[in-house]
Amino acid sequence: MAAEKEQRFEFQSEVKQLLDILVYSLYKNKEVFLRELVSNAADALNKMQFEFLTVPDLEGRDRELKITVAADKKRGRLVIEDNGVGMTLEELVRNIGTIAHSGTLDYLRRLKESEKGGQADLIGKFGVGFYASFMVAKEIHIATRSWQKDAKAWLWKSTGENSYTVEETAREERGTRIELQLKKDEKEYLESHRLKNVILKHSKFVPFAIYLDGEKIERREAVWTQPKSKLADKDYVDFYKFLENTQEEPETWLHLQSDAPVQFQALFYVPKTSFELLGLMKEDPGVDLYSRKVLIQKGSKEVMPEYLRFVKGVIDSEEIPLNISRETVQNNVRIDKIRKHVVKKLLEHLEGLKEKERDKYLAVWKNFAKNLKEGVVNDFENRERISRLLLFSSSKTSGDELVDLKQYVGRMAAGQKEIYYLGGGDRAAIERNPALEIFRKKDYEVLFLTDPLDEFVLDHLREYDKKPFKMTESADIALEEKTEAGDEASLKDAENLVIYLKAIYGEQVQDVKISKRLVDSPCILLNPADGPSVQMEKIIKMMNKDYQLSKRVLEINPGHDLIKTMISLHQADPAAPLLKTLALQLLDNMKLREGILSDTEATIARIQQLMLEAGGTS
Ligand code: ADP
Ligand code: MG
Repeated sequence: MAAEKEQRFEFQSEVKQLLDILVYSLYKNKEVFLRELVSNAADALNKMQFEFLTVPDLEGRDRELKITVAADKKRGRLVIEDNGVGMTLEELVRNIGTIAHSGTLDYLRRLKESEKGGQADLIGKFGVGFYASFMVAKEIHIATRSWQKDAKAWLWKSTGENSYTVEETAREERGTRIELQLKKDEKEYLESHRLKNVILKHSKFVPFAIYLDGEKIERREAVWTQPKSKLADKDYVDFYKFLENTQEEPETWLHLQSDAPVQFQALFYVPKTSFELLGLMKEDPGVDLYSRKVLIQKGSKEVMPEYLRFVKGVIDSEEIPLNISRETVQNNVRIDKIRKHVVKKLLEHLEGLKEKERDKYLAVWKNFAKNLKEGVVNDFENRERISRLLLFSSSKTSGDELVDLKQYVGRMAAGQKEIYYLGGGDRAAIERNPALEIFRKKDYEVLFLTDPLDEFVLDHLREYDKKPFKMTESADIALEEKTEAGDEASLKDAENLVIYLKAIYGEQVQDVKISKRLVDSPCILLNPADGPSVQMEKIIKMMNKDYQLSKRVLEINPGHDLIKTMISLHQADPAAPLLKTLALQLLDNMKLREGILSDTEATIARIQQLMLEAGGTS
């Protein structure tokens, strides 16, 4: 090889850091490097298979698509070779020298810092699999030739430090050959039995022949095509581990086989971990589309709605033409049909879990509640079905306990026609809200919405089992009889105070009323009609500073000592300065509770005045 033809390239700085993390700390489980190389080879073979289907007259279609693994003990080298698509120079530089996902490195760094080495196994998911080989190799050579006509062959060399070189090389075969010069301490990867072990452990579902030192390794059939009766839990779990490059077991799975109205086989998994909850990037679609066991599209956007992106697995249908182009997958009527069918089944499966294996479902809910709520908003067709999956805490649950809507309706009080809800920052805040008082008194359950998304969700649902959702504040609800004796004279006095308050508050409130719902609190601020709740309005205001919070109704409780005091003060002298101070403070207290108090300085000054008076210094 003429040395002057050799070109030197620097690794992208992210790659350098990644290599550092990989080699010096992260991976405890070094053997997975082989899984990554085999999986890359399988990807390349998959792509080749696809090219054969779509490009006519390609040479070499009769040769077996295969992966070979061979140990050269004398030289201390391990060689992994495939006859897949190979890489052009441009692909080589782009694919092996940069990191595709920008969030990857951040995540890995955090993993490293948090010493959660075990999770490092997730590495294969992030498009950094190739570099894992530098954990065991001190030098790597890649010889590759693209399947494309007249493509040249290239040799890539690196010691995994800062740079790599590329030069032209001689290679007749299409595909890629990766040669690892193993480190001194990693010679175990030259032993046949060790290699076989690793391959069987991580790669037995690879849908292509694997030869190890000339001997063909028995592999497993595609699991989804086999009858359920032939499959044990372990088969499903093993396949998941293979599919997701993980040691983690799935939370639950669903295997579907259908002949009519459309033929397909599908195998879906719900993971035990949510990447999005871990603070990672938004997940890519997780279900691959196959036709007759040939991969048509990895992570297909068409076979699952977006909100179900956490679901992993495969869909395989003979009715999807093998040579379908990636573009036409989009408008394929059969795929639409399959999607409709499987989404329904999947949601039903989750509902079954909820009914029969509550703990499992709770785990799913904990991880993917956000996705399901997204589904209520976006998947009109399945809205009702998803509503059965929703869980809430409520005035009748305690601790972590959650209630679903079916349970709620099942234990509704006699005469109750609506499903009540109340939002707030957290459970404790909601429980202190005086709006709850009358519901407690009447023994009506109230759903506690602590996730701001919940209100949107209920807004979209409107009703469950013909019972409309109703915000506690805007519920038209009254205590049957006033608990406090209200003879006409005192009612009149209270009404006079109301007139006084209206004048004092002016534009600050929409109205002042005598409450028929308060038990223990002096007053409450309510939503006049079915408008958005305060929580919702605060969110809207965050996005739009000019948004005007809607005016609210202040209801007072004439049975409360504070209001009684104000009534007496008003009777004695409507112009008393203390009465005005109390009136203003009463409203500010409510605003403070709801987090909508704007003029804090005036409020503090007033409180200080009251404190002085209480101390007798004024
Ligand atoms: P990922 O497989 O997740 O994309 P890798 O680091 O394992 O990340 O590989 C990076 C890229 O290098 C692959 O996406 C592929 O384009 C290319 N590549 C790696 N190995 C091969 C191979 N054997 N044949 C063809 N291309 C390969
Ligand atoms: Mg890979």
